[in-house]
Amino acid sequence: MSAIEIPAIDEPISKHHWQVKCPSGFVHRFRVDAQDLMDRLQPEGVALQAPLEVDVAFDGERLRLALSTELSYPCGRCLEPIRQPLSRSMAYALFDSALEADEALDLEDDEHETLSSEDGATLISLVGDELLIAVTEAPTHPACNPPAHANGSEERLRPFAGLAGLLRGGTKDENR
Ligand SMILES: [Zn+2]
Repeated sequence: MSAIEIPAIDEPISKHHWQVKCPSGFVHRFRVDAQDLMDRLQPEGVALQAPLEVDVAFDGERLRLALSTELSYPCGRCLEPIRQPLSRSMAYALFDSALEADEALDLEDDEHETLSSEDGATLISLVGDELLIAVTEAPTHPACNPPAHANGSEERLRPFAGLAGLLRGGTKDENR
């Protein structure tokens, strides 16, 4: 058996080098150390709540990544943390030069993003990008209120209560 050399998770992605190292491509499951993503995630208030594993497949031309983990991030409405399992898969068409990658954009391949060796991306940087994208698309709690509207539910039940007061011209009832 010939040994193939699996690329490291933090080395710049180079189609040419990967083709040389792994002429028939590779499939590998990487375990991502939370520490490696800390400087990307921490400023956004995002944290990994479970080990992050990424399945990576490279076929010589295309790169596929599938990741699953559990994230915590601040709710967009009440700012309290939300924990949420996350699974994402990404597919990239690899090119050696940015020029080739730009030209390929015209081919309208909806399934694959283009990525060139000149981008300097690493597997870990792609994973970081994806987690941050996931958080910008992330839902809020199913039911929660912004901090400023603690008794919003009662207001919703009587939506015209304030309007009625205005129409009466401000009686003593409204001035309590
Ligand atoms: Zn919330």
